Amino acid sequence: MNLLPVVVQTPVYSQLGGPLTYLGEHFLAAGTLVRVPLGKRELLGVIWDQQHGQTVDSSACQISCDKLRPIAGELGGIAPLTRAWRELVTFAATYYQRSLGEVALAALPPQLRELGTVQLARRIKRYAKPAGPGLSNPSAVADALELTAEQQAAVSQFDLAQGPFLLFGATGSGKTEVYLHLVQKLLGSDASAQALVMVPEINLTPQLESRFGARFNPLFGDHAVVSLHSGMTPAQRLKSWLAAHSGAARIVLGTRMSIFASFPALKLIIVDEEHDPSYKSQEGARYSARDLAVYRGRLEGAKVMLGSATPSLESWHHSRPLIEGGRYVRLQMPSRIGANASLPLVRRVDMRHQPNKCVISPPLLDAMVQRVARGEQSLVFLNRRGYAPVLHCANCDWKSECPHCSAYRVFHKIDRTLRCHHCGFTERVPRACPACGNPDIAPLGRGTERLEEHLAALLAGVRRPHSVSEQWPEGEPVRILRIDADSTRLKGELESQLARVHSGEVDVLVGTQMIAKGHDFRRITLVAAINPDGALFSSDFRASERLFALLMQAAGRAGRDAEIGASSEMWLQTFHPTHPMFEALKRHDYPAFAEAELGQRRQAAMPPFSFQALVRAEARTQEVAQGFLSAASSSVSTMPDAQQLRQVITIYPAVPMSVQRVANVERAQMLIESSSRTALQNFLSAWQANLHAIRQKPEGRGLLRWAIDVDPLTI
Ligand code: ADP
Ligand code: ZN
Ligand code: ZN
Repeated sequence: MNLLPVVVQTPVYSQLGGPLTYLGEHFLAAGTLVRVPLGKRELLGVIWDQQHGQTVDSSACQISCDKLRPIAGELGGIAPLTRAWRELVTFAATYYQRSLGEVALAALPPQLRELGTVQLARRIKRYAKPAGPGLSNPSAVADALELTAEQQAAVSQFDLAQGPFLLFGATGSGKTEVYLHLVQKLLGSDASAQALVMVPEINLTPQLESRFGARFNPLFGDHAVVSLHSGMTPAQRLKSWLAAHSGAARIVLGTRMSIFASFPALKLIIVDEEHDPSYKSQEGARYSARDLAVYRGRLEGAKVMLGSATPSLESWHHSRPLIEGGRYVRLQMPSRIGANASLPLVRRVDMRHQPNKCVISPPLLDAMVQRVARGEQSLVFLNRRGYAPVLHCANCDWKSECPHCSAYRVFHKIDRTLRCHHCGFTERVPRACPACGNPDIAPLGRGTERLEEHLAALLAGVRRPHSVSEQWPEGEPVRILRIDADSTRLKGELESQLARVHSGEVDVLVGTQMIAKGHDFRRITLVAAINPDGALFSSDFRASERLFALLMQAAGRAGRDAEIGASSEMWLQTFHPTHPMFEALKRHDYPAFAEAELGQRRQAAMPPFSFQALVRAEARTQEVAQGFLSAASSSVSTMPDAQQLRQVITIYPAVPMSVQRVANVERAQMLIESSSRTALQNFLSAWQANLHAIRQKPEGRGLLRWAIDVDPLTI
């Protein structure tokens, strides 16, 4: 009999963090997938590495072997997960303070856990086919574009150094083309090499998927490119996962979860739009897929390239010159592709000098009308969906609060509902004020639905001169389309709506940040941010970084076609036109913005000059949630090296979260800070036991859950 360490999904609170020991008739290599009994259930497990000093034969069995249970069986047909994969999982579990079992099993496709042995065996047989033969000399057939000088320079630098790399390239500078080039070169030169290309959001993948498919399927076979994201069905996910795991897929295009995919020969990891917050998981293990990409690159011996027009300040800081301590190689592509392509002219409308309460200022409207006259498109964005964020009674001051959350329900006019965007609670809009009966309840503020309606009214009299017909002697009316989470709820809607924009069936596109990112729109020559001021004075120190990135991204949607790009403009309606951020934006000067922002962060000892973790707690009352956190904070004094700890670790008082109640659950958080990442890590690992213990004590009574968020993005 062999003793087998097996990692299974154990509940987080059980503290059964490490592998469990099972008996096996045969030795099984680490990484092998097995089924094991746990209590009355049978679970999927992964054979883990033998701990130091642990023996594998029963003659040296120290603990009573008769209490151990044998494994139920091995999952046939699936090669063991690699050492690099296991090390990645171990690192992620340790760094993000979760159990090994949770991280390991969450990293595997759900169907591996759910399907019975027979069903699974059938799928595996069907999916895990080896790759069809690629072309014998793929580089010969390459129909890739000829790289520009800037692209060429970036590629040469990439070839010469080990990385990790930060590709700092303007929107439309051809970053994607560089990714394609690097992938092609790698795959063409190494018949088994695989590449992982990560993108932030599902809604950006269709276009990219087709671009990768079009380029690589002819070269490396129809199944060379697979996608991996949470929008796929469990069966599709299993299929993609197996394709990557078996090596049949050469390229995986995926969202953050794909960082845990299994590859036998991963040689290149690309993280597109690396600054995007969606790379940070907000549930379970709060991992950063971008940061794990850099770590995984080292484990696998894969090169890593992060790319962005507005890098995260962390990555920007890491890519400072080597002599200043930089660790990433910065590659720069400042120019847009195209002979006379330029970035759009940024125009600030001083809203203090515009008609009172106007939503679209007269000069902006005028500029949009000009676009219509020229047959060009405009994009107007507002980061708030629904018709209005609040419904209000002027008579008694009633507002559409959510009964379950400390937030207002949003008025959606289309289906006449009040919807809470936090808990989902939805009701029909009342005919009259529920408090006083006043029938005149009115929307306050504005979301994309209302903006769409407003634009339709403003542009009602405008005609499209290029569409003159007998029926429309002066041309057809302006076509407005709204794209946001509401308009794209149904599967396929987003693709079809984007297709309408691309094919020119839309003149004015209205939407949330969903449309401001990533899309390669060709005919948009005007982008307008209606009300970007909100984030300027936020209490979240990352708000300005996010706003700057969003506005730069949005500006990047304009003028992507050099032929009409010369007249492209980005409009900002603001009450603070001279704000330094807008000044930097006007010059498209990310480095200046980053330098100013990093200067402030350094002075205030904020990340990346310090390291943070948040502990969040949820309970029926704030008192319980905060009580748990406070007890956890006090418990530091019982730790062996309490005094030294207090010198390197700062624990702030527990406070309610900004939306403190969601679905009748009160939420509180506590910030922990240190100037040393290692000190913070060591502290959290040791301190975690206290949190588990406090939960069992009176202070923990009534606590629903708690979690640690390392390197939190929102505070
Ligand atoms: P980014 O990812 O930086 O926004 P893309 O790679 O999408 O930029 O490139 C912008 C546009 O320029 C795309 O339509 C792309 O096809 C085109 N393009 C990129 N590189 C070249 C090149 N070397 N020659 C001609 N066109 C290019
Ligand atoms: Zn009222
Ligand atoms: Zn709610």
